Amino acid sequence: MIQLTNISKQYDNGIVAVNDITLRIEQGEFVYVVGPSGSGKSTFMKLLNREVKATTGSLTVGKFKLDRIKKRELPMLRREVGVVFQDFKLLPNLTAFENIAYALEVTGASGKEIKKRVNEVLQLIGLSHKIHQYPDELSGGEQQRIAIARAIANKPRILVADEPTGNLDPDTAMEIMKILEDINRTGTTVIMGTHNDYLVNQRKHRVLRLERGRLISDLYKGDYREIN
Ligand code: ADP
Ligand code: ADP
Repeated sequence: MIQLTNISKQYDNGIVAVNDITLRIEQGEFVYVVGPSGSGKSTFMKLLNREVKATTGSLTVGKFKLDRIKKRELPMLRREVGVVFQDFKLLPNLTAFENIAYALEVTGASGKEIKKRVNEVLQLIGLSHKIHQYPDELSGGEQQRIAIARAIANKPRILVADEPTGNLDPDTAMEIMKILEDINRTGTTVIMGTHNDYLVNQRKHRVLRLERGRLISDLYKGDYREIN
């Protein structure tokens, strides 16, 4: 469960990127975050893993109260909230296996556990045969799938994806979307920022629409353009 109560974020330059948002997201929901460029989508999502700290308001993410979280608890929060980016952010000098293993090593998992889990997530995203490839030997869609595998390696309860299909062609974008829906069906909350109106209209889920940092509509099974 995620609860925002009167959450705002003002950056040091004075820009209010998120403005007084109150909303609740239940465990297991699939939520799109839409809105024009600069409307606060990225900031909204970065609040959830405390990459960005709210200026005012209170924010609960699972068992963590982010207004009171201690620095030493941040690694635990970040294991609960997996993240995926538009530009994949894979480490170029590591293979697919090593990129995913890296996320598990920091948790102190044993070599045997790591190998087992990497194989599991590679199977889930259908790329077991690319385990020893480097990122530049993979297509964009494959790189994004590896990035998703890395993000879910620690079994987060929440997966945040900021424009995950932004650099991909339409067919590949749809494949990524289906993988995110598969992950969602296992009970993981998925929160996806996107400009992709086609996907939002085809694969209906809750739609949060931001404009200038404000939440201007919140619709279950909404359309990309529909406004209350
Ligand atoms: P979106 O993801 O919808 O494009 P962002 O959250 O990236 O929106 O940005 C919202 C507003 O906050 C924009 O005006 C942007 O320039 C500003 N902004 C984003 N990040 C920062 C930052 N680190 N410092 C200052 N301003 C920022
Ligand atoms: P997106 O549109 O995907 O949110 P941006 O280009 O807005 O990406 O932001 C890229 C990075 O630059 C982010 O880390 C964001 O926080 C930062 N950023 C965006 N706008 C500003 C700004 N006006 N001042 C400082 N940093 C910014």
